[in-house]
Amino acid sequence: MTKQTSAQTQHWQALSREHHLAPFTDYKQLNEKGARIITKAEGVYLWDSEGNKILDGMAGLWCMNVGYGRKELAEAAYKQMQELPYYNLFFQTAHPPVLELAKAIADIAPEGMNHVFFTGSGSESNDTVLRMVRHYWSIKGKPQKKVVIGRWNGYHGSTVAGVSLGGMKALHSQGDLPIPGIVHIPQPYWYGEGGDMSPDEFGVWAAEQLEKKILEVGEENVAAFIAEPIQGAGGVIVPPDTYWPKIREILAKYEILFIADEVICGFGRTGEWFGSQYYGNAPDLMPIAKGLTSGYIPMGGVIVRDEIVDTLNEGGEFYHGFTYSGHPVAAAVALENIRILREEKIVETVKAETAPYLQKRWQELADHPLVGEARGVGMVAALELVKNKKTRERFENGVGMLCREHCFRNGLIMRAVGDTMIISPPLVISKPEIDELITLARKCLDQTAAVVLS
Ligand SMILES: *Cc1c(COP(=O)(O)O)cnc(C)c1O
Repeated sequence: MTKQTSAQTQHWQALSREHHLAPFTDYKQLNEKGARIITKAEGVYLWDSEGNKILDGMAGLWCMNVGYGRKELAEAAYKQMQELPYYNLFFQTAHPPVLELAKAIADIAPEGMNHVFFTGSGSESNDTVLRMVRHYWSIKGKPQKKVVIGRWNGYHGSTVAGVSLGGMKALHSQGDLPIPGIVHIPQPYWYGEGGDMSPDEFGVWAAEQLEKKILEVGEENVAAFIAEPIQGAGGVIVPPDTYWPKIREILAKYEILFIADEVICGFGRTGEWFGSQYYGNAPDLMPIAKGLTSGYIPMGGVIVRDEIVDTLNEGGEFYHGFTYSGHPVAAAVALENIRILREEKIVETVKAETAPYLQKRWQELADHPLVGEARGVGMVAALELVKNKKTRERFENGVGMLCREHCFRNGLIMRAVGDTMIISPPLVISKPEIDELITLARKCLDQTAAVVLS
């Protein structure tokens, strides 16, 4: 912003410097720049404290599925707070919202997944699956089956278990992670790591790394494989077409559980209710969060296959849970969110109309001189920014951050993962709003190119 920031904004920026430790933030850098203060939102737009209107191409953090400003969600929370603001579920009690919600989720979940364990976030959901799969194998008389196989550059949250299951080396480097018993295999990131292989060859190769790891660790020691249907935070990594079929083939050969982290892909992002349905996968456990409440209130959960529930039923007490597991206010909001998604046919509209339109328009950006690849599925998409489109050579000092700065300045939120620009807009984004997003994105690419290609 060129204009002088207001006294009000400066006041908030001072509070940020003096009292707030923000998540995933370089504090020194933030304090030098001053935090951007977001004050209100409506539909797919945000406003900052300087009055700038911003198209939120990231749906908050991949979570505002029904968009901002839905009064019904506020009313559901208000009503539930007056009736029963809190009660726990620990000691053989329950309350109507959590039960109605579990049923509503079972109704949209894949066949044979009829139970939900509730948590407060995606990270807690992944802590839950780690304990649940190990507990499951103990009950089955195979307590040595403990190892969980994750993927390099996967993201499963920011708690100790979440970071460990995830495969981000920068995160591992802080706090002496991963914890023992978690190992990683390469990701199906053809553009970045496929080398001379075709995408299909690389997809098979990446899937085969799972089998290699199972044999290396020993099937008798492996509890589960965890993966996002499409890696989100890692850079919207859409696997080659051959990847999931080959993974399914491998999983069918071995007695290990399959955890599909649906925290981003769940609740309509791919044009199906769950990313696993988009790919035809049949996981045993599905961590969920984000779109479950469209981000209006924190809530997560794990959707669990019937066979696992049957085993848990034989295992005595599962010593696991959170004070806010199945919180009634969050449950009421989630129920209302699912009602909106269903009654307004938002997932169907994404699949039939808006996602094909977004993906078609997104592909137009592939002709830009900076763009090596444009890819996406449903309502997520990515652009690879490169110096050389043929060789996939990157810019030495990177361009993602520069491009992101241009986006901010032009009123578009597009995230940079290294030099991969990504979007994940609210599912309710309209065709004219998609046009606006594409126009803004091209303008930002042009401005970035003017700096780095001149
Ligand atoms: C965001 C995310 C998480 C973590 O969720 P939190 O609610 O931030 O704890 C886990 N898995 C995936 C795939 C995510 O995108």
